[in-house]
Amino acid sequence: MTTESIVILGGSFAGLSAAHYVIRHVLPQLPKKDGTTYAVTLVNPSKDFYWRIAGPRAIVSQELMPSSKYIYPIEPAFAYAKDQFKFVQGTATHVDAAGQTVSVTTPDNQQVQIPYIALVVATGVTTASPLFTLKADSADFVSQKAAFQKALATAKTVVIGGGGPVAVESAGEIAEVLNGKPGWFASAPKNPKAKVTVVSGDKKLLPILRESISNTAEKYLNRLGADVIYNTKVVGTTIENGKTIVKLSDDKTIEADIYLDATGVRPNTSFLPKEWLDNRNRVACDPKTLRVTASPRVYAVGDVGSYTRGGVMDQANALPVALTNLKTDLIAHLSGKEPGPDRHYTADLRESQIVPIGTQKGVGAFGGNKVPSQMVWLIKGRDYMISQLAQATLDGAGYKKEGKWKPEPATAKVGLSSG
Ligand SMILES: Cc1cc2nc3c(=O)[nH]c(=O)nc-3n(C[C@H](O)[C@H](O)[C@H](O)COP(=O)(O)OP(=O)(O)OC[C@H]3O[C@@H](n4cnc5c(N)ncnc54)[C@H](O)[C@@H]3O)c2cc1C
Repeated sequence: MTTESIVILGGSFAGLSAAHYVIRHVLPQLPKKDGTTYAVTLVNPSKDFYWRIAGPRAIVSQELMPSSKYIYPIEPAFAYAKDQFKFVQGTATHVDAAGQTVSVTTPDNQQVQIPYIALVVATGVTTASPLFTLKADSADFVSQKAAFQKALATAKTVVIGGGGPVAVESAGEIAEVLNGKPGWFASAPKNPKAKVTVVSGDKKLLPILRESISNTAEKYLNRLGADVIYNTKVVGTTIENGKTIVKLSDDKTIEADIYLDATGVRPNTSFLPKEWLDNRNRVACDPKTLRVTASPRVYAVGDVGSYTRGGVMDQANALPVALTNLKTDLIAHLSGKEPGPDRHYTADLRESQIVPIGTQKGVGAFGGNKVPSQMVWLIKGRDYMISQLAQATLDGAGYKKEGKWKPEPATAKVGLSSG
């Protein structure tokens, strides 16, 4: 008996969901072939899944956000599919597109070759600050946060680079933990212990939200003792006498006890063939079918894909599309028949972002409608959605059903390729 693998690279929001989806809705529908079984192989550098959404609170306090709430072991979530699921702890280092094989380095430095009949790239992004990206060992990751919290406890000046949601949420958490919770109607803390400064390269915070919401975000930061500098970028940092000298694009500098870089992310794609990437080093995929057009039966899901502006909400729309097309292509490839119709993805570009600012307030919009502060707290500010969604994400609860979709005429006959 031989086992052929649908290989999924990356075991976070997108990769875990893809693995559940393929086990439930793709493997059972593949044509039977004597002597061959099909399975999912999931490759991830860590044995654990990190609930990254809670990152801003996890960096400030182990009491407010214990590691047991944001680190979850991956393998138990697939106990229901043990003959159809294999977990490989390791990092993909190379993909041989012609040979349809992935090279993986394991934590003990073994090189493993994994052949695939279909490949899903879900390797996501690395944040500028290591505090928000779990590399391999979650114990190291938690210790890193403990060291940050120790330094934070005595900090008098904190600078946060960036004006997006990670910067704003982090500034809120840091300012509240240092300066305390203000009175409900206070506009600033009475005796702030620390000066927290957000350096935003843009003319407003939270670029995808309307200006009035961004202004409210600044007001909520101010009440916690955090100020914002606009139209200014952090251009470099140096360490002098235990302080971080933060250099700004207007030639000024700020001396900080702590600098937190929340300026953006870099896609994890350096191991992929260059012809699979776009000019932002994302995996270039067809914006409708999410196929990686450079190679047969390769798909991108999650933040690594060229189709998305990022975030986990978009994955619920995109993932079933990519994996339905994977199923179509694979059935055609294995049966030698014409592929069925395509499924298409449409980006939902309405104003949607929910941003807690400390444990009491927050701003946001959903589906183009403004979300009041209390609702932001209810949805996300309480526990960064852990109680509603963390275990459900790990278990693929949102993908128990395949769901209905409208077939589109097939755009590619990749299923019949000899690759
Ligand atoms: C602090 C913070 C807060 C956020 N809050 C929100 C929020 O509230 N709402 C929201 O919608 N989005 C939020 N986001 C964005 C959200 O976290 C991302 O959209 C999400 O993590 C993307 O999931 P992903 O699975 O595509 O990629 P990632 O989460 O980046 O995961 C990629 C996985 O691939 C693995 N990997 C990397 N390289 C390799 C390799 N070579 N081989 C094998 N595996 C590899 C990684 O280790 C990781 O496990 C936040 C992001 C941050 C940083």
